[in-house]
Amino acid sequence: MVKGLVERLKAGETLVVAEGYLFEFERRGYLKAGAFVPEVVIEHPELVRQVHEEYVHAGSDVVLAFTYYGHREKLRVIGREDELEKMNKAALKIAREVADKTGTLMAGNLSNSCVYNPKDPETIEVTRNMFKEQIEWAVEGGADFIVAETYGMYAEAKLALDCILEYGNGLPAVITMSAHVDDTTTVDGLPLPESIKKLEDAGAAVVGINCARGPETIMPVLREIRKLCKGPIAALPVCYRTSKENPTMQSLKDPDTGKMAFPYNLDAWFNSRTQIDKFGKDCLELGIQYAGLCCGNCAHYTRSLAEVVGKTPPSSRYSPDMSQHFVFGRGKDLKYRHEYNNIKDRIGTDAEYAD
Ligand SMILES: [Zn+2]
Repeated sequence: MVKGLVERLKAGETLVVAEGYLFEFERRGYLKAGAFVPEVVIEHPELVRQVHEEYVHAGSDVVLAFTYYGHREKLRVIGREDELEKMNKAALKIAREVADKTGTLMAGNLSNSCVYNPKDPETIEVTRNMFKEQIEWAVEGGADFIVAETYGMYAEAKLALDCILEYGNGLPAVITMSAHVDDTTTVDGLPLPESIKKLEDAGAAVVGINCARGPETIMPVLREIRKLCKGPIAALPVCYRTSKENPTMQSLKDPDTGKMAFPYNLDAWFNSRTQIDKFGKDCLELGIQYAGLCCGNCAHYTRSLAEVVGKTPPSSRYSPDMSQHFVFGRGKDLKYRHEYNNIKDRIGTDAEYAD
């Protein structure tokens, strides 16, 4: 019997959560940047299963059903609204099977609706119905909990939480908002840390911040949230080198052209594994128990994060060991001192390799 989310958090465990499926499949050539709809779920289900398995292999404790942006509005935009239910159910089924096989937790996934406008009651009703149907499919699909994420507006995040509490059959809710360039206020003009606190008070099992910001610029926001929230906090940055000058991936520019790097020219800004390690250490220091990675995530980042928070996932078997390298290694197992050992500086650098 796999322990539930709330039980594991109460026991003080830190959960690692691999996300970033949209970007991963876009890079692999199975998903279009722009609309960002997870069509791959019905076109290449075997690949979705494989990436779920890779992420678990790398240390993810959660299999997040790939239903992000698999909602009515996005499907309408690409003219596949009639396949909405099929897509959601397929994604949930794959995720459930991988979770069962690997002894991990499976989460349903809601996102921002792309239609919600707090000043327009009709859009609020449309959003409510979009949340309701996806939540009901997640319940039916056997989700262990439901993640609702990337809300810029507090009111929409609160609506998602209310819907999970109402239609989620008692499943725990993980609610995260995104901190954009202004990290002090929500898009609907409320103080951000206080808004997150309100979501905690309203019954979310986990609250926090995901997407938009990289490890370096997400932590200051979370430090403010930590001061207010007493329960489990989620931190899921994008895996890009955001900075004070460019605090979000949307504000980063392609160094060659000066144009917006988001979403498909962010490659120059990928984090190093050392930076992901630092993020993991920051999470431990701040007592963040739901630590994950969003856009830009790859299996090697997930493994770095898992290892730094104290786990030994199956893929740790292949974690780097440069002592075995024929030029740069210094290991005692190297029987012969290779000729290249004497000319290291000519083929690389004399700098120490990272441990
Ligand atoms: Zn993201």
